[in-house]
Amino acid sequence: MDTFRRLLGRLDAYWAAFLASLVAATIASVFDGLSLVLLLPFLRLLFEGDATGTGLATILGLILGAMVIKNVAHYAAVSVGVTVQERVVRDLRVDTYHALQAQSLGFFQRHKAGDLLTRLVADTEQVRTAVSLALASTVRNGVLVLVYLVILFVLSWRLALVTLVLAPALAIGLRPLFRRIRVRAQTQVAARGELGAVAADALSGARVIKTQLAEAQEADRFARAAGAAAESAVRFQRVAFLASPLGEVLGTGVIMALLVLGIAWAGPGGPIRPEVFLTFLAITMRLLPPVKQIAQFPAQVGDALAAARRVFALLDRPPEDVDSPGAVRFPGLRDSIRFDGVYVTFPDGTEALRGVDLDVRRGEIVAITGASGAGKSTLVDLLPRLIEPSAGRVLLDGVPVTAYRRESLRRAIGYVGQETVIFHDTVRANIALGTPDATDADIERAARQAHAHEFIMALPRGYDTVLEERGLRLSGGERQRIALARVVLRDPEMLILDEATSALDPESEQVVRQALVEAFAGRTVLVVAHRESTIAMAGRVVALEAGVCIDSRSTV
Ligand code: ADP
Repeated sequence: MDTFRRLLGRLDAYWAAFLASLVAATIASVFDGLSLVLLLPFLRLLFEGDATGTGLATILGLILGAMVIKNVAHYAAVSVGVTVQERVVRDLRVDTYHALQAQSLGFFQRHKAGDLLTRLVADTEQVRTAVSLALASTVRNGVLVLVYLVILFVLSWRLALVTLVLAPALAIGLRPLFRRIRVRAQTQVAARGELGAVAADALSGARVIKTQLAEAQEADRFARAAGAAAESAVRFQRVAFLASPLGEVLGTGVIMALLVLGIAWAGPGGPIRPEVFLTFLAITMRLLPPVKQIAQFPAQVGDALAAARRVFALLDRPPEDVDSPGAVRFPGLRDSIRFDGVYVTFPDGTEALRGVDLDVRRGEIVAITGASGAGKSTLVDLLPRLIEPSAGRVLLDGVPVTAYRRESLRRAIGYVGQETVIFHDTVRANIALGTPDATDADIERAARQAHAHEFIMALPRGYDTVLEERGLRLSGGERQRIALARVVLRDPEMLILDEATSALDPESEQVVRQALVEAFAGRTVLVVAHRESTIAMAGRVVALEAGVCIDSRSTV
């Protein structure tokens, strides 16, 4: 129940609204109870035959009035309740998003995007159920039960005592069931996360699935995941739905006991008047549905709590991609970048770099070459701290990069990789990614320098064309030119090009490369390259092999 308490803690910001909803719920319960208590004068009228008409009219008027007030208050309680629950979900989503953003790049490589997406969107949605049921069931029904109990005691303390003694027995009887419900809820939520992960694979891997003729295989995998989700949902709901009928049968036991006592106590000469007994019975019956709902509460909320647990697991991850306490602003490179005995070992044991020493002077263009898997990407990823070295240091003018605030460090470094991500937005917004206050003229200038202007103007709406998700409408080369325009616009003093022109044909590459050399004249550039022509733009070539530098030669 710790998760539940924590979830309730998230209501803190909305305590006033929550309280208002509680007050409205109390008013609703009191008037609901009142309308039933008005049975008492009516029954008296009926039994004692004092049907003057005015008495009846008064009673009817009071009943109607009580019902109207009850329903207005009920509506107010519910509508304030939904506002609170939706805000709580929104807060939870935003907090979870921030927690995700604070994770390192490695975290995103280790976790399936689909599973994270399910947590961020679907699981938080599920949490809403917990919040709404926490509001509706516990509070509203709890208040209702309390008010009814008070009325029952006023009507007849004897009968009320009997009811009160029998009711907890009912709750204890249902306990093992609740435990089972909780376990199955967890399985169900995990299965749903797995389904999300499989679905995400299918959606992002459409190309390879088609060309590898893997459709049947993948459809099968999805069907299996969907089947597992359905299976676990059925298993969960089978136990969850047991709570209500069991509760009702046990509750009927209480009513039976009251009926037996009624014969004894409310019969002729008994201590309880028959109309009081009938009213008592009516209220006890009315008590059953809220008690039933409270009994269902663990079942309904179990699912939501299992989801909440997954969300909290993300929220509780210590932020990785954050600065050390004393970090200062990076003032800019004066002299040189230095990789000092750098080792990188990935969590799976792969030793990507094994003691790299490398100096890059300010203003130098250094090409990094080597076979695939030699560690080139790993090496350049160290500079903006997308990866941390397992041993050794990366120094800027002799100061470890860890001494600088990441934001200021990354601002000074531009990065274009071979995998260019285009967002579902206009060309303009795509180029201005990370530079939101750039003017249209700036954006166009950057696009021209990256040789993207011509093809952008050929798009249906020029710079205002909305690019399809993941840029599938653009060619690989066009996408790379958009990505290059992005860094040109941001104009950083250091630049990393990791196969950034690999998707261009040799002629365009020649042109774009020349443009980049002009745009970044005097800047420090690390360029990971295979092609001889790309290597030619560098003043120095460094060759990596199996995670070590084997050669460093000047080309000038
Ligand atoms: P290159 O850029 O030269 O092709 P990389 O730097 O990408 O080489 O990779 C170097 C080695 O590290 C390869 O063996 C690769 O499989 C491994 N590697 C890269 N990234 C990861 C990762 N996130 N987890 C585990 N191994 C990785």
